[in-house]
Amino acid sequence: MLGHESLGTIEDAPDGSGFAVGDQVVGIVRRPDPLPCPACAVGEWDMCRNGRYTERGIKQRHGYGAERYRVEPEFAVKVDPTLGLLGVLLEPASILAKAWDQTERIGRLAAAWQPRTLLVTGAGPIGLLAALFGAQRGLEVHVLDRAREGPKPRLVRALGAVYHAGELASLEGFAPDIIMECTGAPSLIAAMLGRSASGGVLCLAGVSAAEQRVELDVGGINRTMVLENQTAFGTVNANRAHYRAAAEGLAKADRDWLNGLISRRVPLDRWHEALERRPDDIKVVIEFA
Ligand SMILES: [Zn+2]
Repeated sequence: MLGHESLGTIEDAPDGSGFAVGDQVVGIVRRPDPLPCPACAVGEWDMCRNGRYTERGIKQRHGYGAERYRVEPEFAVKVDPTLGLLGVLLEPASILAKAWDQTERIGRLAAAWQPRTLLVTGAGPIGLLAALFGAQRGLEVHVLDRAREGPKPRLVRALGAVYHAGELASLEGFAPDIIMECTGAPSLIAAMLGRSASGGVLCLAGVSAAEQRVELDVGGINRTMVLENQTAFGTVNANRAHYRAAAEGLAKADRDWLNGLISRRVPLDRWHEALERRPDDIKVVIEFA
């Protein structure tokens, strides 16, 4: 069964589980590896060391794509009931909650770190949620994407952020304190290495295919990163604390703005339409009965 991003309504819950009939919940995707490794043993399955974790809808476990499913109470997270269908954004938002948690912990390696500017590359759901959480932190947010018109520039500007269409050249001379790379595009990743301000953090949150080679001035990048105390790191998945942080972030976000992330809703019997890529798509949701 497919489906790692989900939203469900509780039909039945054991006493003492903390859940009641009617609660809206999102199921956590990853499960600790059976050993477990030191990370999984302390609930940080997102940092699993041996790769033997399982994931609902992704790796060795059925997903949530069903009219009814069961989930262990400790792997369910309540979402603010006023979010309604927007609660389905919790899983992708949890990825960004983790990315932000790590970015800020790395930044604080310097006691006086006070980030002011954020650059997000890519204005898909992940990039837009990265920008949302940046705006919630009071940062000056910039977003770069190929789209020249449509919902992406509109949503970015609605956050009070600056939208840069297509060209890296428009960012000439801009050295952000934080960069969140959300495209996985090798040329863009290459361009972001060594690009931040002094003490800056580059968070790599996009997944690329292998064997896409880009020529790099590694000496120059290394020199900049060393002399400017820059960090680049990769991040994936999320643990329970990140789901909770994401639930808080979504609960205080503007509902109309979040609604703009969901470009289409498709009923289950027309599920195949959800897989068609349309020009203005950001996130498409399949609705079950
Ligand atoms: Zn593990």
